[in-house]
Amino acid sequence: MKTVELVLRVPERYHEFLIAELSDLDFESFAEDNDRLRAYAPATRWNAASREQVEHWLRTRDLPDTFEERIVEDENWNARWEETIRPLAVGRFLIKPTWAEVPPEHADKVLLEIDPKMSFGTGYHESTRLALRFLPGLLDGGEAVLDAGTGTGVLGIAALKLGAASALGFDIDPWASTNATENALLNGVADRFEVREGSLDVVPESGFELVFANINRNVLVDLLPGFAAKLAPHGRLVLAGLLRTDREMMAEAIHQAGLHLYDEATENEWWSAVVKKEA
Ligand code: SAH
Repeated sequence: MKTVELVLRVPERYHEFLIAELSDLDFESFAEDNDRLRAYAPATRWNAASREQVEHWLRTRDLPDTFEERIVEDENWNARWEETIRPLAVGRFLIKPTWAEVPPEHADKVLLEIDPKMSFGTGYHESTRLALRFLPGLLDGGEAVLDAGTGTGVLGIAALKLGAASALGFDIDPWASTNATENALLNGVADRFEVREGSLDVVPESGFELVFANINRNVLVDLLPGFAAKLAPHGRLVLAGLLRTDREMMAEAIHQAGLHLYDEATENEWWSAVVKKEA
């Protein structure tokens, strides 16, 4: 898929206005860099009429009505937003892209080097952070981990870095499995991390001591009985990708699947739970 990139050289105080207007033209991502605003939309949405519209908005604010525009392939577009990704401390971890330095104040953290590309799971989402914060309390070392909806592989990689014996990640997004494999290599855990494309049916194995599932409510409800079957008797399941408002409904689904709510946490409107098999 091709993307159109606009580069508007306008003072920062106009960015908010322009972002709001451009969103109406299906611009869905923005990168701000002092007096430069970059905006991205599917190339198919860009034409003479939308160009005139943008020129018009600039004129209404007495700004020069010129800007750069170019069509970029997915890869270049990745390179653009990669620039906006910064190291992030989450509990005992520091998540950073390969091109960033470790800030000295975080030298004691467990390093997760994650190059996000197109997959969700940079640690910039609450649900990933909630799952990561549970992790140290759930591992003694030597566990077999299942990472459902692995994305970038961030959760499986984090578990391996804290001493899990092996991780098996799976994801329906073919892009994710490539990305997770790359990230496992980057973090020196590729020999213990296997990634498969597909949903739970690509996992005939069971007896996992720890299962991560950061997906969404509907998928989690569907997969809960399957997860219960995959867990070792003393195993733990971390559910994320849920909102606070999902709590009641999920508590019921957890109960229905013969599982027990063991721990929970929230960040902003997001809710995450640790579930166990034995009462
Ligand atoms: N584990 C990462 C990514 C979570 S995003 C993290 O914690 O940050 C959720 C991922 O689940 C996406 O990559 C999506 O492709 C995947 N997914 C959605 N439905 C799925 C399903 N039924 N089976 C497996 N993966 C699924």
